[in-house]
Amino acid sequence: MPTLSLDALLERPLRAAILAAADNVAVQRAVNRYGMQLGARRFVAGETADEFLRVARAVNARGFAVACGILGEGVHERAEATAAAGEYCSLLRAFAAEGIDANVAFKLTHVGLDVDPELAYDNAARIAQTARESGNTMRMDMEQSRYVDATLRIHRRLRERFDNVGCVLQSYLRRSFDDLRAALPTAPNIRFVKGAYLEPPTIAFEKKRDVDENYLRLVFAALEGEGYTAVATHDAQIIARVERFVAERGIPKRGRFEFQMLYGISEPLAASLVARGYRVRLAVPFGDYWFPYLMRRLAERPANLAFFLRGALTRG
Ligand SMILES: Cc1cc2nc3c(=O)[nH]c(=O)nc-3n(C[C@H](O)[C@H](O)[C@H](O)COP(=O)(O)OP(=O)(O)OC[C@H]3O[C@@H](n4cnc5c(N)ncnc54)[C@H](O)[C@@H]3O)c2cc1C
Repeated sequence: MPTLSLDALLERPLRAAILAAADNVAVQRAVNRYGMQLGARRFVAGETADEFLRVARAVNARGFAVACGILGEGVHERAEATAAAGEYCSLLRAFAAEGIDANVAFKLTHVGLDVDPELAYDNAARIAQTARESGNTMRMDMEQSRYVDATLRIHRRLRERFDNVGCVLQSYLRRSFDDLRAALPTAPNIRFVKGAYLEPPTIAFEKKRDVDENYLRLVFAALEGEGYTAVATHDAQIIARVERFVAERGIPKRGRFEFQMLYGISEPLAASLVARGYRVRLAVPFGDYWFPYLMRRLAERPANLAFFLRGALTRG
């Protein structure tokens, strides 16, 4: 008879509680005040671009490429959205000037999607143009399900003008395989993730096993098609399956795909992939709006909460 562990029973409510706390202003204030000193630095490079560039160089020195993310989302002011796009452009110029192996990945709600989709499109196009000028790439993250259509629409429009633009599909969404099928003829550059938000069962798989199966189905289909695939997961079993798949099909370790992980998570696994000759990119975020990002990392693995609180206790 199948048994359900206490961990599994607690997982969904705990995850829901942590993600709800992400929207709680009082929690946000308290954590914002002390969080960076306590434990957020494990997952976030710092609050300034200079702190980020220092970490990016160190990450490059360990053999990883970097995906730079400025922490911000849900922007409601036109000027703020345009300023965020400007910051991404400055960073892309800094990468080229300083020889840093990094591209950028950003949220469309950070560059204006909630204000006006045309503003988000224009800002994303500005970032794509700046990236193209130094032979670099950019990618739009995938946010909550209510943004998926708008994000894919902007992605499609940008791909008509730029070939250095990528997007993300989430394997917990039932629709993602259809979205992949629609994109495949354009030789897309897609990052595959399991999905970090709380979505209703009507549109998202609930069981980890189904999310994982769909993940492999998506990645294998993408690897068999044209284009570039970013396998973004810390799941050692999935990574082993992907390694077997590419070896069996004679897909070279570099050039057609890369592995991606989040800064501060599973680095020994990431380092072992580099040692075996794969290209691995770490997503390194920075900025003062790090609270929702931190909460998503805690929700993925509530054990991280203990790590974070231990930081609080040891600092008295
Ligand atoms: C480069 C990158 C970009 C991403 N971009 C997006 C995006 O655009 N949109 C989106 O919705 N999601 C994004 N995510 C997050 C993703 O959706 C998952 O929430 C996250 O990656 C955890 O899933 P997993 O694939 O690692 O597998 P899981 O099954 O969750 O975890 C597998 C194993 O990885 C380790 N692990 C996973 N998460 C953590 C953690 N937080 N702390 C410590 N260990 C952990 C544990 O050992 C765990 O057993 C991104 C993830 C990565 C790596």
